[in-house]
Formats: sequence, structure tokens, C-alpha cells
Amino acid sequence: MSKPKIVILGAGYGGLITSKSLEKLLKSGEADVTLINKHDYHYLTTQLHKTGVGTAADRQIALSIPELINSNKTQFLKASVSSVDIKSQVVHLEGGDTVNYDYLLIALGFEVETFGIPGIKENALEIRSFRSSKAIYHHIIKQFNLYKEDQDPSRLTFVVAGGGFTGIEMLGELADGLPKLCKEHDIPFEKIRIVAIEAAPSVIPFFPKQSIQYTMNVLEKRNIELITGTKILECTPEKVVLENNIEVPTRSLIWSCGVKGNTIVHKWGLPIVKGKIAVDSYLRVKNMNNVFSIGDCSLFLKDEKNALAPTAQVALQQAPLCAKNIVSSIRGESLKAFEYHHKGSVASIGLMAAVGKVGNFRLSGLFGAFMKQVIEARYLFNLGGPSLIIKQHVGVSREPV
Ligand code: FAD
Ligand code: NAD
Repeated sequence: MSKPKIVILGAGYGGLITSKSLEKLLKSGEADVTLINKHDYHYLTTQLHKTGVGTAADRQIALSIPELINSNKTQFLKASVSSVDIKSQVVHLEGGDTVNYDYLLIALGFEVETFGIPGIKENALEIRSFRSSKAIYHHIIKQFNLYKEDQDPSRLTFVVAGGGFTGIEMLGELADGLPKLCKEHDIPFEKIRIVAIEAAPSVIPFFPKQSIQYTMNVLEKRNIELITGTKILECTPEKVVLENNIEVPTRSLIWSCGVKGNTIVHKWGLPIVKGKIAVDSYLRVKNMNNVFSIGDCSLFLKDEKNALAPTAQVALQQAPLCAKNIVSSIRGESLKAFEYHHKGSVASIGLMAAVGKVGNFRLSGLFGAFMKQVIEARYLFNLGGPSLIIKQHVGVSREPV
């Protein structure tokens, strides 16, 4: 009998950690594992805001996948998935190649949600992937150069849409990184405007009052202009249009108003609920025994009505269990139900401040920032041991790339 073929789509947090777990769980020769990803690097999505402002070197954020996996146990394929034929168990890749599977994991992550607001898709910048974040960095430099030609103040106005965690992390990074970028490109920093726009009455509206107040104070101290309780209605190449007839002239709208599951999966005949792949308690796609899905592209209900949030924390907890359940399926053993344990959330506001909550304990300030670094380092440690942490950080300061 031929060996079962396990194919993993996406090498983000969910897909990569599942493949690493399979390397440990599978006996020699028990199954073939193929990991397919668009790029040959795994990017740290949780730190993409740094790439956007150039406060981290590329090699700290984008890690070579072949160096992270055991090539004797996992075959890596750099390719873009175009579709999956569930009936015939075939993955179709851009360019026409195909890959057969017996067991499939779909971990294709998220897309940015624009809510159909006019001009966002065409004109706004996204913190979605390493490439899209790098594009923000290049856009900033381009605006600096153009400002030198036309002195148009809108080129030095950077607007962040959405005051959720992604938004405040981006704002903190802009406040940290722009002074240095200005110096390097001979731009007067006092002419820079950083504007935050949030539809809800405050930033991080889902957090305790004290944390909200702390965050608003940090942002204000860093001269970030806060416009809350105001929705963005439209974006053109030259301005952002808000409710109440407010317009902000800008060439740089960084859109961080939420995410949705990767829409590429919608046409594959899978059960799609709220735009995501509905999975059962074992992380299998509903009513399928050999197709699994985890992370941001999947919908896991924690109770009758509510789904788990699209976070790295969820994907990272799902991945090892998903690997176990794939192996159990191959071996004909019983599967284990996924149980999520929320360990807390911490969001950076630049390098020296953060806001978070672990259990009932509120984190802020330098201690919060330190905890955020610990969380990121822990992920690298789990991925590649102490050598990966050293390799990533030794000799690298927060220099622009
Ligand atoms: P992803 O990490 O999005 O990985 C998907 C992978 O699939 C990518 O490698 C992508 O290239 C690949 N892919 C996509 N389409 C294709 C295709 N067609 N073919 C081949 N490959 C494809 N969560 C937290 O818990 N803590 C945090 O601190 C945190 N910080 C964040 C900061 C920012 C700026 C952002 C944007 C998000 C943050 N999140 C955080 C959320 C977290 O990053 C996501 O929930 C997490 O990345 C989801 O992991 P995933 O494996 O499902 O998808
Ligand atoms: P989000 O949905 O959490 O926040 C989006 C914000 O945008 C909301 O506050 C919303 O009110 C606002 N908004 C929506 N439409 C708007 C409009 N038209 N005009 C103005 N404001 C508008 O999205 P996110 O911050 O991108 O986070 C996505 C996911 O990633 C979440 O699950 C989050 O927890 C996770 N994440 C976690 C961390 C962390 O733990 N450090 C960091 C970043 C993201």
C-alpha cells in the first residue's frame, strides 16, 4: 500500500507549526508531507507593522522556510494555490501543476476587510503580508521624496484607519520610526502628522476602561491626532473622507479596520460560514474526514454563537492538535476535540510601551512592552530553539532596512 500523502496549504503560524509537529509525530516512512506556500519565507505576521516603518530588518520578520523545516521529513513547495478539487483530492497550483493528497490542511490565513468602502482597495495600504507591509515602507520614502519636490503637506500626513490592536501597533511604530526616517531623508519631522481614525468612541473599544485611557494617553503624548467616533467613508489618492463632513488630505491611508478569512477558499465546495471554512470540534472541515482547516481562514465555534477570534494565539494552539488528529486519522485512532485556552493579549505601542491583559491582570508601559518581546521570543524559541533567537537578533538593531 502506498504511503498516505498529507498536504498543507499555507506556511503561516497554523500551517508551519502543523508541519513541524508532524515531523515529530510521524514514524519514519509513515506518510509523505508536503507544505505549500506562496513564498519561500514564513513571515511573522504579528510584527508586520515593524516592516511597514522599517523598524525591524527584513531577516527578523521573514524567515526562510527551508531552514525551518526538516527536508528529510517535509517537502516544501513554493507555489500559489489556485484551487482544490475536493472530490478528486487534487490541489491545483498557479502555473498548472497539481498535487494529490489523502489528507489536506487548509491554513491560508486572512485577507483585509474593506467593507466595500469606496477607494479603500484602490488607494489604501494594507498590513497583510510581508510584501504589503514592505510596500508601506517604500510608500513613505516615496512620499518624502515627492514632498521635497512639491512641498505638499498631505505627503507628510500618515493616517491609520482602525484603532484595534493592528491600528495601535502601527501608530506606535510610526511614532517610533518616523523621526529617524525623517532625519535620514532630510524631512522636517515637525511637519509630520500622524492621524488615527476609529469608528467606535475610543481605540481598543473591547478592552477595559483603564487600558483604553492608558493607550489614548500614550498616543496623545506621542503627538498622534485621535479622531474617534467617526467612520471612514471614502478614500481617494489625495484624501480620506470621514463622517460629519471631515476630510483629511493625505496620500497615505494605512487600513487596519479588521480582517476576514482568505476568500480563495470560497469556490472549492467547502461549507463556508461568515466567509470562513466551518470546522468541527476536531478541526476537520464540517462533514469531511480527511480535510482539516485552522487559523484565520477557518471558523471554530467556541459556543453556539461565537467563533474564536482570528489570532496567532488560536492558530498556534490549533496546529499541534491538528497534527495529532491527522496522524490519528491515518492510524485509525480516535481524534481529540480542540479546546482553546486564552492566555491573554498584549499589543505594542512602539518599542517602549504596550497594553494588554492576562487573566484579570492588566499590563501596560515598559513591563507590557517587555512581555510582548517575551511572547515574540517564545515563538521563535519554539520554532527554531535558542539558535534561531540568537540568529534573528544578534547584530541587528532597530535599523531601517
Ligand atoms: P497567516 O499567518 O496569514 O498565514 C497564511 C499563509 O498562507 C501565509 O504564509 C501566506 O503567504 C499563505 N498563502 C495565502 N494564500 C496562499 C495561496 N493562494 N497559495 C499559497 N500560500 C498562500 N495575533 C496574536 O495572537 N497576537 C498578536 O500579537 C498579533 N499581532 C498581529 C499584528 C498584526 C500587524 C496583524 C496584521 C495581525 C496580528 N495578529 C496577532 C493576528 C495573527 O497574525 C493572525 O491571526 C495569524 O497570522 C493567523 O495565522 P494563519 O496561519 O491562519 O495565517
Ligand atoms: P479589529 O477588528 O480588531 O479592529 C478594527 C477596528 O477598526 C475596530 O476598532 C473598528 O471599530 C474600526 N473600524 C472598522 N471600520 C471602520 C471605519 N470605516 N472607519 C473607522 N474605523 C473603523 O481588527 P485588527 O486590529 O486588524 O485585528 C484583527 C485581528 O488580529 C483581531 O483578532 C486582533 O485581536 C488580532 N491582532 C492581535 C494583536 C495582538 O494581540 N497584539 C495585534 C494585531 C491584531
